[in-house]
Amino acid sequence: MKYISTRGQAPALSFSDILLGGLAPDGGLYLPEQYPHFTDEDLAAMRGMHYRDLAYTILSRLVDDIPPADLRAIVDKTYRADVYAYARPGQNAEDITPTLKLEEGLYLLSLSNGPTLAFKDIAMQLLGNLFEYVLAQKGEITNILGATSGDTGSAAEYAMRGKKGVKVFMLSPHKKMSRFQTAQMFSLQDDNIFNIAVKGVFDDCQDIVKAVSNDHAFKAKYKIGAVNSINWARVAAQVVYYFKGYFAVTTDNAQKVSFSVPSGNFGNVCAGHIARMMGLPIAKLVVATNENDVLDEFFKTGVYRPRGSANTYHTSSPSMDISKASNFERFVFDLVGRDAAKVRELWNKVDAGGSFDLKADGWFDKVADYGFVSGSSNHANRMQTIKATHERYGVTIDTHTADGLKVALEKREAGIPMLVLETALPAKFEDAIVEALGQKPERPPSLEGLEALPQHFDVVHSSADAIKQFIVDHI
Ligand SMILES: *Cc1c(COP(=O)(O)O)cnc(C)c1O
Repeated sequence: MKYISTRGQAPALSFSDILLGGLAPDGGLYLPEQYPHFTDEDLAAMRGMHYRDLAYTILSRLVDDIPPADLRAIVDKTYRADVYAYARPGQNAEDITPTLKLEEGLYLLSLSNGPTLAFKDIAMQLLGNLFEYVLAQKGEITNILGATSGDTGSAAEYAMRGKKGVKVFMLSPHKKMSRFQTAQMFSLQDDNIFNIAVKGVFDDCQDIVKAVSNDHAFKAKYKIGAVNSINWARVAAQVVYYFKGYFAVTTDNAQKVSFSVPSGNFGNVCAGHIARMMGLPIAKLVVATNENDVLDEFFKTGVYRPRGSANTYHTSSPSMDISKASNFERFVFDLVGRDAAKVRELWNKVDAGGSFDLKADGWFDKVADYGFVSGSSNHANRMQTIKATHERYGVTIDTHTADGLKVALEKREAGIPMLVLETALPAKFEDAIVEALGQKPERPPSLEGLEALPQHFDVVHSSADAIKQFIVDHI
């Protein structure tokens, strides 16, 4: 299994060789040369598997340069019930990503029961263990540079804290994360974790990471690695829970299900796309956005028009406040028939601050073949959805999951189960829940008093040079 770049001008590499990096040297993103395919017979064998067995079965088709016994051990160490310990009444922590039935044909797929209460733990915890393993094998170290609007950063830091050979430099938009998110990250005191508060918004942080990664000399000299959502291993890890969710609500592989995915960088729903390409019977992939609706605009019109950071709204579902969906290029590569020259042409426009329109040349007509539909929501929708869900089902959901549920209800089809991906627990966004329900959400007992802990961070200007200097000074 080799991995190729969406821009077609980088050498094909194996899994371990792309694990530690971010973008391919030609600026593209890695994808498998060919998607592995699970037949009906394979799916039948996978039905009923424990999460660990499922994860191993899927990942072993994507990873061919880690010995099977070692990969198995990494997976077993990662997906343990004591790490994904939070479970609602009626859920079993052993399921790792348990479902919760709201009503006939409508479910939550709970992805947020891990240490930082957001779905990013699922992939990041695997990454932490893969990094430690591969670095030890190669006798190397890495300095992870990441950008976060809240959840990536804490998931990365909790996955990497104390890991040998790894330092984490995490950029976050100064004063733009929730109090809980801020406390979760900034209260870490591990020597290998550096919290950098950038005076700007999330897109500025993401642009800095891209700029530093594109400085190939700096990247090589200081062993800069990435864990943001373009990292292939993260996308691969996320493929697993689509299978898990599918099997949880079906009894037969002839059945289809739909998934509604609260989206920002398009990493999560990209994993759904890949699960579908691998043979999972998915009816619809519902891309749900908040007011930052660049993806909704594309799936409605064929125009992809990223907005600048000045036009990114600061919303009550902040982890989706993204106007340039970095994983979107992976889907477009498949959409345009894996024509890397076409992707280069399109992203030349995007990288120059422009937009592209796939309607004119006919490619947009193909979107429906991939099951994608979309919708968006706003603050009032989120408040209303959180309230209605609490009243109707006695379940408290967070603001991001509310975006997903709102759009799911608009896109549901009779006879096809709809799974809404629960991307964070409400405890992470207490203020919004108080606004919607007039009461605080339940908080896992281990996190009581989090905001009172001493915080550790540095405030830095929004400039790639300032960040480079910070890294040089701290390694
Ligand atoms: C990261 C995040 C999202 C968006 O996921 P993408 O993979 O960037 O599309 C949605 N909800 C929450 C809670 C998140 O942390």
